[in-house]
Amino acid sequence: MTKHAAPRQAAASPTPAQATGARGAPVAPASNFLRAIIAEDNRSGKYGGRVVTRFPPEPNGYLHYGHAKSIILNFGLAAENGGRCHLRFDDTNPVKEDVEFEDSIAESVRWLGFDWGPHRYHASDYYDRLCTFAEWFIGAGLAYVDSQTAEEVRASRGTLTAPGTASPYRDRPVAENLDLFRRMRAGEFPDGAHVLRLRIDMASPNVNMRDPAIYRIRHASHHRTGSKWCIYPLYDYTHCISDALEHITHSICTLEFQDHRPLYDWVIEKLADGGQLARPLPQQYEFARLNLSYVVLSKRRLIQLVANRHVDGWDDPRMPTLVGARRRGFTPEGFRLFAERIGVSKADSWIDMSILEDCMREDLNARAQRRIAVLDPLKLVIDNFPADHAEDCLAPNHPQQPEQGRRVLPLTRELWIERDDYAEVPPKGYFRLSPGAEVRLRYGYVIRCTGADKDADGNVVAVHCTYDPSTRSGTPGAEARKVKGNVHWLSSGNAIEAEVRLYDRLFAVPFPGARNPWGQRDGDPEGAAPARAEVVAGDLVEEADAAEPVERDYLDDLNADSKRTIRAYVEPALAAAAAEDRFQFERHGYFVADLKDHGPGRPVFNRTVTLKDSWSRRASGT
Ligand code: ATP
Ligand code: MG
Repeated sequence: MTKHAAPRQAAASPTPAQATGARGAPVAPASNFLRAIIAEDNRSGKYGGRVVTRFPPEPNGYLHYGHAKSIILNFGLAAENGGRCHLRFDDTNPVKEDVEFEDSIAESVRWLGFDWGPHRYHASDYYDRLCTFAEWFIGAGLAYVDSQTAEEVRASRGTLTAPGTASPYRDRPVAENLDLFRRMRAGEFPDGAHVLRLRIDMASPNVNMRDPAIYRIRHASHHRTGSKWCIYPLYDYTHCISDALEHITHSICTLEFQDHRPLYDWVIEKLADGGQLARPLPQQYEFARLNLSYVVLSKRRLIQLVANRHVDGWDDPRMPTLVGARRRGFTPEGFRLFAERIGVSKADSWIDMSILEDCMREDLNARAQRRIAVLDPLKLVIDNFPADHAEDCLAPNHPQQPEQGRRVLPLTRELWIERDDYAEVPPKGYFRLSPGAEVRLRYGYVIRCTGADKDADGNVVAVHCTYDPSTRSGTPGAEARKVKGNVHWLSSGNAIEAEVRLYDRLFAVPFPGARNPWGQRDGDPEGAAPARAEVVAGDLVEEADAAEPVERDYLDDLNADSKRTIRAYVEPALAAAAAEDRFQFERHGYFVADLKDHGPGRPVFNRTVTLKDSWSRRASGT
């Protein structure tokens, strides 16, 4: 495993951006090792030109940004090659899985822009065949029922340096194994009484090959098969067979499964040799999972964030889930651009959050219409502007796309401007309003500030100015008057109030919970620790037990300013925005009408991302 690059280096590291050209035109995607393998297989005719991949989520939680990388990779490779990608729910653990998660997972894959057509499958679709194959393994002398306790199995497994020791049940006669396995299936034994193990090699240097368990007893009802089964197949056994039954060609998974590949091959090779499966068999390939700074991506931690109410649910816009991303206003196209930009490799590294945010900015810049919002309103009075007059100023909906037209912003005597666009004593380099200073009202006139009213406590309550009628934007000679400042505004007579939620990064440091949360991360990247199933032990060791060493409490690194809700003024046109419409609020950032809470008479906008990255300066301490 490689040492992790510091985030600022990671920003520059992997494959160069290739998804879109300067004006968003698609360009040829960069090659990567998986594209090269598939091209070679197509050339050699290994699979007769077929490319069939699969995305195999376990329906025990919501998808996160890391899954997006896997989805885009699997569906993308298939699409590029005229192939197909299956959506397969890997539902081998009856206790933790649910239809609620399945629906959300399918919805998120669709949201990212992918379609599995009729190829929606479940590992549980194969329970009968998996069981038949298990009996075949028993009959071939390649599997046995082990009646040791889970502790005994674990203790005899050996270590990375010492071989395992054989179970006293390893040489049970075939007939006895078959009888016991059938009685396991019939429900004669309690949980944990026996496991079915493959008979491979207790001395193998690869621990996964030391007689892995493939079936365990679990008297639990399954969300799809109900109470039909009380034995359930384990992941490593199920996954490769499911792939083979679906005629998957390229089975792409994350690096932690590298050491499981010999077992993957062993199972399906044996079945093919025995005439149980057709060749050509699928081939497993591993790529580096997404590790992203400023978030956590392990299911266990995401669950904790929700359960302990650090966020407002799974779809909280700060959550790195795909349902959260959607409410945040992130776009599927932005995710695809991101996936292309970070590329795929075989070495673990960290990707800085700014890369994902930049991809969203880039996509939103092209697609979001511009609107005005005043987030921290201060009254501006144009003293020489007629009181009952409204003058239509025209603002382009998109500065680079004139075909999108313009909209009217009525200029009136009283306006809202941003509070920080006025300074009684301007700091050095401040080009906005201060007594005597001139600025342009965006799409309107040049004004000169004449002073401000204050309340009894000395707070500024209104700014006064005069305008110069010869300087209207877009009229001849108007631009002759050079002013450095340009401020946005809304007529106080027709701006509407909106709830605006200013979201920011969920964590305040790049590596939440790390001993050095700002720098190089010690230890394994999150989640790269052991895979979800501890197959040798004969029962599941939950991921929580197998997870990375805790360095500090990652919850201490939550960003206290990750959500601020304000009342703001927005253009009246925004009242008609549909949920999920996205805009650039000029000078502020990209915003989206909230999927859940926005509606007629109740405008609610979420900040997706600011216009510029304010975090890289913090990270580098400049
Ligand atoms: P987690 O590790 O967060 O609990 P998981 O791996 O258990 O997630 P699965 O439902 O098993 O979740 O994942 C489905 C697919 O997504 C798998 O092929 C897995 O390798 C892939 N995947 C999971 N996390 C990432 C990630 N961070 N980057 C890329 N792919 C990922
Ligand atoms: Mg996993």
